[in-house]
Amino acid sequence: MAEKKDIDWANIGFGYMKTDARYVTNFKNGAWDEGCITDDDKVVLSECAGVLQYAQTCFEGLKAYTTKDGHIVTFRPDLNASRLNDSCERLEMPTLPEGRFLEALDKLVLANKEWVPPYGSGATLYIRPYMFGTNPVIGVKPADEYQFRMFATPVGPYFKGGAKPIVIKVSDFDRAAPHGTGNIKAGLNYAMSLYPIVKAHEEGFAENMYLDAATRTNVEETGGANFLFVTKDGKVVTPKSDSILPSITRRSLVYVAREILGLEVEERVVPFEEVKDFAECGLCGTAAVISPVGKINDHGKEICFPSGMEEMGPVTKKLYETLLGIQQGTIEAPEGWIHTIC
Ligand SMILES: *Cc1c(COP(=O)(O)O)cnc(C)c1O
Repeated sequence: MAEKKDIDWANIGFGYMKTDARYVTNFKNGAWDEGCITDDDKVVLSECAGVLQYAQTCFEGLKAYTTKDGHIVTFRPDLNASRLNDSCERLEMPTLPEGRFLEALDKLVLANKEWVPPYGSGATLYIRPYMFGTNPVIGVKPADEYQFRMFATPVGPYFKGGAKPIVIKVSDFDRAAPHGTGNIKAGLNYAMSLYPIVKAHEEGFAENMYLDAATRTNVEETGGANFLFVTKDGKVVTPKSDSILPSITRRSLVYVAREILGLEVEERVVPFEEVKDFAECGLCGTAAVISPVGKINDHGKEICFPSGMEEMGPVTKKLYETLLGIQQGTIEAPEGWIHTIC
């Protein structure tokens, strides 16, 4: 095993730490260059770069971690590669061949091997691939030149001392318009979510539940995670909408629920009216896998899930532990889910 950096893995937070290496490739004259690993963490851009003027940028998020048997792996990175390209197409950016994405990922992780937290620490190496328009753009149009980068930063365990349920609020703001960009991983979706999340935090809530912008009657997602509900008779329910981001964690949990745990799963429109009848609620995303929700505040009216404020509901917990076990190599993974780097 490689020497590890001298870091108190269990006590680092979710922040940026500059590691040894990052991957960079540039798109010019209609083609990507060869790409390379560099120690240069600085991006020098024209003051008029497309990304700075018209926010032409999108990103991905995944993690590399050490399994029980000492391998460094990533989880379903092919889905990040294809989702990045879906985002690129919607933003009139060039796509990056899936093979290039996976090759960049391997190179990046190998070059930062000493930064991959050890098994059992709960920490992971968070990987941030992203692309942005680099050449000057002042009339509104797509850039001609782009940069794709991938950096890594170690992040601490998402739940220190157990996953405590959070309290969220129903937002009066909208996250995504119908036929808009809610289904792609674009920075622009996050820029406009900052005001509502800062307000929600000031009011003591951990997250915003966004409803569909057209009718404000159906559940969409939070600023950065998809919802998963459990009915009182043990069915898993997750909102279906063209304006939510297709979470890889959520898609994996749906598979785990159906194919491994034998649960019934419904992917469908979820009226907010129905939420009060659910037994459990969780938020899914790469960072936490599942973050349990104990309470939802709807304009002062509280919806309290029977699972309570102390721990995850039983079905949520089973889903969480199964997916975590698959990721960490203690439960056999479905074909193609674990990408071993070394
Ligand atoms: C990234 C993201 C998620 C979670 O997706 P994962 O692939 O599970 O990490 C959910 N919602 C939004 C808006 C996101 O940007």
